[in-house]
Amino acid sequence: MRVKIDSAGRIVIPKEYRFEYNLRANTEANVLPLADGTGLGLFRLVPKCANCGTEKELSKYEGISLCPSCALKVLRAIER
Ligand SMILES: [Zn+2]
Repeated sequence: MRVKIDSAGRIVIPKEYRFEYNLRANTEANVLPLADGTGLGLFRLVPKCANCGTEKELSKYEGISLCPSCALKVLRAIER
């Protein structure tokens, strides 16, 4: 699908791709060169627990995501 880069360097990701790849407003992603050098890829960032890496039931505090189990471990470590 053809898109045009505006004067600020922005593009509009076509609606079909936003829907297919679950790209919503404020979704964070990396834009990286493809390994074969043929272009750029957009890679959606999936939030993960900063401690164990799980992607489920995360709570975020001051930019750090933790799952309930790891949040409890941190809380217990602080209480000692
Ligand atoms: Zn965790």
